[in-house]
Amino acid sequence: MSGNRPQKPATKLVHAGRRSSEYHGVVNPPVLHASTILFETLADLEKAGSSAPGKVTYGRHGTPTRFLLEEAVAELEGGFGTLCVSSGVAAITNAILAFVKPGDHILVTDSTYYPTRNLCNTFLKRFGVETEYYDPAIGGDIAGLIRDNTALIWCESPGSLTFEIQDIPAISAAAHARGVKVLLDNTWASPMLCRPFEMGVDVSVQAGTKYIVGHSDVMLGTITTATEEDLLTIKKQIIISGDAVGPDDCYLAQRGLRTLGVRLRQHHESGLKVAQWLQTRPEVKRVLHPALPDDPGHAIWKRDFIGASGLFSFILKPVTKPQLASMVDHMDLFGMGFSWGGFESLILPSDPKNIRTATKWDEDGQLIRLHIGLEDTDDLIADLEAGFARLEMI
Ligand SMILES: *Cc1c(COP(=O)(O)O)cnc(C)c1O
Repeated sequence: MSGNRPQKPATKLVHAGRRSSEYHGVVNPPVLHASTILFETLADLEKAGSSAPGKVTYGRHGTPTRFLLEEAVAELEGGFGTLCVSSGVAAITNAILAFVKPGDHILVTDSTYYPTRNLCNTFLKRFGVETEYYDPAIGGDIAGLIRDNTALIWCESPGSLTFEIQDIPAISAAAHARGVKVLLDNTWASPMLCRPFEMGVDVSVQAGTKYIVGHSDVMLGTITTATEEDLLTIKKQIIISGDAVGPDDCYLAQRGLRTLGVRLRQHHESGLKVAQWLQTRPEVKRVLHPALPDDPGHAIWKRDFIGASGLFSFILKPVTKPQLASMVDHMDLFGMGFSWGGFESLILPSDPKNIRTATKWDEDGQLIRLHIGLEDTDDLIADLEAGFARLEMI
């Protein structure tokens, strides 16, 4: 073995959460389906209520298939522990609900994923929690928005659709000075591209659906915490919600995880190549990708991330609806769809204008989000080029 030298992330990715020696030497953890768990004795039954980690007591509370995935994600993200739930949105909902009570105030980045906003504007409002949206570029100035009843700050970096990078260490410092928790939607970076707990984050949430699973076929969410106390707080909330993720889905997520490193390297390289090509095109006003040197978030991205994933946006010069349809309806390789992170490329026209409240999105032109998959970039660029040519034909 390698003694005490810490393993590099690529090595952890292969070995974390496998424990083959406990499962007959089988390389991948077994799929253990369960609803009923049988107890040998009355004494065992009476112990079932205790929440010792790794204990199998009831199907909904998980079997080793899920526990091993949780072990792997915790190790990769560098947290104390992880809880897996049935979707990214279930992870967001449970993480937030664990820390709020009626009368609380929470701060949420204006660039957040829309369903997070939906939770805040509907259920949380009804529950008596006030949400205040803030400018994603606020940094340490968030101190001025923190109130005595502020329970948590929700971050997402880069932002959904618009890809603003947030100064998470500055936000965390301001939050912790007032005893406020920092929660981060870390889906874009996957567990590989940044170190949320080194940046002061208390809870990191992932839509495992995206890059962890990586094959566009499973819904899964992960919640990783810096401390045991927060892990237990969130675990209690998940038990109340009744959420349960199935063992087949955990198995597929485990399998996806093993190739995450090589997939991400390709998503980064290909995404950047397509982004740079888009910058040369007369049809394109601006490319929103933090790894581009002229991106407003570039310096912080470079400081806090070790790479980029394959998801970014660009602003097309103003086009009519029929022009836009002529482009996106006839793509050869790019599919049109929402959930990203698989091996295939996606194109998604979107409009952040009516979503925002704390900041204004007054970009004149059509926002298009791309997910650059694992195809050859020459073919992807040819597909986009043909799409741009169709704009001129209308
Ligand atoms: C997709 C996504 C989610 C939600 O994940 P689901 O598994 O689809 O519920 C959450 N956050 C971000 C940033 C996402 O892109």
